Amino acid sequence: MAVVVVGAGIAGLACARELVDAGVPARVLERDPQVGGRLASERLGGRWVDTGAAYLTADDPAFQGRLQTWRIDGLARPWTDTLRGQVGAATTRWAAPDGLRSLAEDLARELDVTLGVPVTSLPRADAVVLAMPGPQALAIADLGAARAQSWSPAVTAILTYANRSWNDFSGIFVNDHPVLSTVCDDGERRGDRAPVLVAHSTAAMAASVDPGVQMAKAVGELLGLGDPVSVETRHWPYASPKPGHGLYAREGHVYLCGDAFGRPRVQTAWLSGRAAARAILQSTD
Ligand SMILES: Cc1cc2nc3c(=O)[nH]c(=O)nc-3n(C[C@H](O)[C@H](O)[C@H](O)COP(=O)(O)OP(=O)(O)OC[C@H]3O[C@@H](n4cnc5c(N)ncnc54)[C@H](O)[C@@H]3O)c2cc1C
Repeated sequence: MAVVVVGAGIAGLACARELVDAGVPARVLERDPQVGGRLASERLGGRWVDTGAAYLTADDPAFQGRLQTWRIDGLARPWTDTLRGQVGAATTRWAAPDGLRSLAEDLARELDVTLGVPVTSLPRADAVVLAMPGPQALAIADLGAARAQSWSPAVTAILTYANRSWNDFSGIFVNDHPVLSTVCDDGERRGDRAPVLVAHSTAAMAASVDPGVQMAKAVGELLGLGDPVSVETRHWPYASPKPGHGLYAREGHVYLCGDAFGRPRVQTAWLSGRAAARAILQSTD
């Protein structure tokens, strides 16, 4: 049985891990030069910054177990259970000392992952898993389930200040704001207290010409800060899907998985990739 997984985000890596752990070889093809997808961290100013997902949450027992293993291995730690502007009950949010992407790298260890390969047509295999947003999967195969998904963009702004001139906060949900959706204190999240804030935009702001400038201004107004010394932006054309149903989709020997199958969270992507793998394993019984 030959399985090819396209996409080395958390869904694709969880899928390949499940297959390999069950003794089925899986090859992972990823277009980027690194694994992780939207579980993204970059080295900026000599330290890790989370530039995609802000934190992890877990209410599924299996994913809670995954987080506990990462905690024991020193890769993840509970960060905060309350963000300003939070609606609803306290929820433990997890951070990673070396950035959230380090968790994807941990999953990828000993897997057969080829980086820098943009896949443009269906690879030859007994089963192919497209582990990515539906609009990206459509560039590879015309899947009805991919066409049915609906996605919103977002921009991440990484704001570096001369010093920490704000009162400590973990993060803020900026509810009903035209520019910002969240602001997180990356120095507090990382544990090094660097004067770095990471803001996520609204979908409307992501379409504007210069979101970084407007996001820096909005963060300044929100927290009473002067201008940052640097502003960097990262664009996510497919940041979050409308929550979908099921755990994955299948058309013939092609499987589609990712965070569109449930609430748009890392946990959903991980569960979806694992479910696609289990379906493939069952089909070989
Ligand atoms: C700004 C932002 C903030 C977020 N905040 C949170 C949060 O706080 N908590 C949370 O739980 N979730 C958050 N999320 C969502 C979370 O990041 C995703 O749910 C999760 O990372 C999705 O994983 P995935 O594997 O399904 O998709 P992705 O991470 O998108 O992985 C898809 C992979 O496929 C690759 N790929 C695509 N096309 C091809 C191709 N043709 N050939 C080869 N490879 C290809 C991509 O490069 C990518 O690596 C956030 C997302 C964004 C963008």
